Amino acid sequence: MDRYFSSDFTLGILGGGQLGKMLLYETRKYDIRTIVLDPSAEAPCHISCNEFHQGSLTDFDTVYQFGKKADVLTIEIEHVNVEALERLESEGVKVYPAPNTLRKIQNKGIQKRFYSDNGIPTSPFQIFDNKASLMTHLNNENSSFPMVWKQCAGGYDGMGVQVIRAFDQLKDLPDVPCILEEFVPFKNELAVIVARNSDGQIITYPVVEMEFHPEANQVEFVICPARIDNSVADKARDVAKKVSAAFGHVGLLAVEMFQTKDDDIIVNEVAPRPHNSGHFSIEASYTNQFDQHLRAILNLPLGRTESKLNGIMVNLVGSEGHTGDVIYKNIEQIMAMDGVTPHIYGKKETRPFRKMGHVTIINDDIQVAHRIAEKVKETIQVISK
Ligand code: ADP
Repeated sequence: MDRYFSSDFTLGILGGGQLGKMLLYETRKYDIRTIVLDPSAEAPCHISCNEFHQGSLTDFDTVYQFGKKADVLTIEIEHVNVEALERLESEGVKVYPAPNTLRKIQNKGIQKRFYSDNGIPTSPFQIFDNKASLMTHLNNENSSFPMVWKQCAGGYDGMGVQVIRAFDQLKDLPDVPCILEEFVPFKNELAVIVARNSDGQIITYPVVEMEFHPEANQVEFVICPARIDNSVADKARDVAKKVSAAFGHVGLLAVEMFQTKDDDIIVNEVAPRPHNSGHFSIEASYTNQFDQHLRAILNLPLGRTESKLNGIMVNLVGSEGHTGDVIYKNIEQIMAMDGVTPHIYGKKETRPFRKMGHVTIINDDIQVAHRIAEKVKETIQVISK
């Protein structure tokens, strides 16, 4: 294992966005050599990897040729060419997450079926190949609204998800493979990050609570620890471990869940990589999620997951009505606040709701942290010049 450090060992990363950039802080810490593939020459990762390759993440040959240069390959985005990863894996490249897991996760229908097949609690659902079969089903059933429509592939950050409250909303839906899910009137949206290495060592971070922006359907605050009873937190961590073990996952797995009115935990979906809901860990935890992902995929001993202090993360997204070269207005004011650290991802152009950065607030007192987080949110603005 000592071969990883200050050597020719090469970690390949598919995707050069902010998650990759934050992973590279850690590969720099350990002096692990990295190569990154991303379609954009301006990707946030291009400055800090050892070699940057510009190219498509969905093209077989590009991903295959890139992967041949790596000893271990990981991803920071799920929408990559899985056939190429399967070939690479069969030729001896270690690929984490496993291509087989990516295949299940890339399609919400397959992902949901995986949960029901493995006894993992998830809301009841049905899968449809196209809009016609969805409509036929609904015309023949006594449908009770609301229900949740999700396109099987290609959606992210709430795009491709719609809560259907009335029959006529259906006519505007695109004609794509989709699932229909029972609406969960949840108390809380929670997430647990699980780390598992190939020896099977498995640990979880504390449960976090996610507060969503009502219109954009993007996370507004991530609060660690979640303000829930210990018994609910224990249940959530157990479910998350069960999901990771069911996938035989190696690396980080972020498990998004709902806490129901009866304090049951049901799984919504997973991301097989470092995740927005774990960014608080950079400032708040003994071992941050990116360090932990490296430890897991390189089969190194996992680090402590406890927090040193309470943490709240605020996403910095582009303000509405602003498109163009970005300015972080009032960033000095927030940096003067207690325990506040902004992270700027390095995207030159802002667009409404585009994830441009995040801010972490750490404090001994979670209520104080929450007040500062609100103030951060009111103060900083992501606008164009
Ligand atoms: P994405 O993959 O785009 O993030 P999700 O499946 O996480 O999509 O759904 C986005 C949001 O929609 C969730 O965070 C939650 O607020 C809401 N949602 C999803 N499924 C349900 C459900 N079955 N019941 C109630 N709300 C849901």
